[in-house]
Amino acid sequence: MLRYHTVPVTAFQQNCSIVWCDTTHRAAIVDPGGDLPRLRAEVERLGLQLEQIWLTHAHIDHAGGAGQLARELGLPIVGPHEGDRFWIDALPQQSKMFGFPVSEGFTPTRWLHDGDTVNVGECSLQVRHCPGHTPGHVVFFSPEAGRAFVGDVLFEGSIGRTDFPGGDHQTLIDSITQRLWPMGDDVVFVPGHGPESSFGAERRTNPFVRGT
Ligand SMILES: [Zn+2]
Ligand SMILES: [Zn+2]
Repeated sequence: MLRYHTVPVTAFQQNCSIVWCDTTHRAAIVDPGGDLPRLRAEVERLGLQLEQIWLTHAHIDHAGGAGQLARELGLPIVGPHEGDRFWIDALPQQSKMFGFPVSEGFTPTRWLHDGDTVNVGECSLQVRHCPGHTPGHVVFFSPEAGRAFVGDVLFEGSIGRTDFPGGDHQTLIDSITQRLWPMGDDVVFVPGHGPESSFGAERRTNPFVRGT
């Protein structure tokens, strides 16, 4: 069974999730945007073997620590979709713009595509390409656990910004309604920022996607 523990990191309080297979204690870390010593301490406290870095998209608060963590621990970087290549290339500028420590460059070990699967221990998660906030944004879905890690696609009561380069409002709405909603109303999602919610709750009450 898949388990996870979410740690808000950076000044943006970005929800970095450590996810693991509770049979093997093999783990992946979703969006290590920064605060790496704290994240490594959490992995150790949980008694896990960290084996992979998974990225939803390449904004600095999500991907800013990925290069350094990959180098220090010898980990592969999986994701996002290649549509975010320009955001990875822009990480040094993003660091300066938002007052982050200088971010180490990297090239993902594996770009992800819609319909791909990622595995950790005995657990499998489905990959959906959900552009709109960024062109290469992906989400990770565990049907078994009823959990989805959606980055900045959807939040409790809100949706991702679309005013950055490559963002597009209608594309984001389509990603939410055509790729997230079919996962099921009962699915609980971990957003990139703020509290968890369920897709059903957002379909009822989120002013941006209510009734869709
Ligand atoms: Zn973002
Ligand atoms: Zn974010």
